[in-house]
Amino acid sequence: MGVSVSVLASGSRGNSALVESSSTRILVDAGISCRETFKRMKSIGNDARSLTAIVITHEHADHVDGLLVLARKLKVPVFITGATHQAWARSVRDATGELPDTQTIEFFSSGHSFQIGDIEVCPFTIPHDAADPVGFTFRAEGVRIGFVTDLGYLPASVCDHLRACDVLVLESNHDLEMLRAGPYPWSVKQRVMSRVGHLSNEKLAEFLARDYDGSATFVVLAHLSEQNNHPEIALRAAEKALGRRRTLLQNRVLLARQSEVMQPIRL
Ligand SMILES: [Zn+2]
Ligand SMILES: [Zn+2]
Repeated sequence: MGVSVSVLASGSRGNSALVESSSTRILVDAGISCRETFKRMKSIGNDARSLTAIVITHEHADHVDGLLVLARKLKVPVFITGATHQAWARSVRDATGELPDTQTIEFFSSGHSFQIGDIEVCPFTIPHDAADPVGFTFRAEGVRIGFVTDLGYLPASVCDHLRACDVLVLESNHDLEMLRAGPYPWSVKQRVMSRVGHLSNEKLAEFLARDYDGSATFVVLAHLSEQNNHPEIALRAAEKALGRRRTLLQNRVLLARQSEVMQPIRL
């Protein structure tokens, strides 16, 4: 069956993705409801009850909104850093008055790889305004997947992790001009544009043109803003940045969407 990646939902209204090997199935973030997660997995021929584990990037609501219900229902381990867990538990307690059950929690630390079934998971620190945000690389059956959204810029340490990946899922959050001219209050615009905010099409393009090693067969643009970006604009910026490399190496650029499941990439 091989390794596959699909994005169930991507954007500020909820993020969730699936990384699978022949024997292991990991949900990356749980930012859509339990019901919606079941529905979207079913639409690509998967049963959510077959998940092996859930891994969490950070505690922002668009990444954990469905976590409590999903973890209770599926009773699968949730891999999360200590600081992210604390921040998440606090927000659950404030909203519901109860602390989440910690029986299924497995702690990891950024910079320390761990194994879930036959998938090696390598978490690394990213610059974002959350307690302890991480990106991941996943490795199984000789395939390597880089996964990074929700970050203000791409420091060299993150670029290093994104080398030699067969699939890259990367944030392409906003078009700078659209954000500047858009409806957000100035304080929010500043937050989004800051070094711990979100990655613009322009900053992603800079990475693709300059630091990216050209190794991925698929580059997936993710966490697009619905207010301050347009799929065509993000796609054009990435394709232009890849330039000649795209045709030489047959990199395909795909879009992860908020309201539709991305058909699985099979490797
Ligand atoms: Zn987010
Ligand atoms: Zn975030």
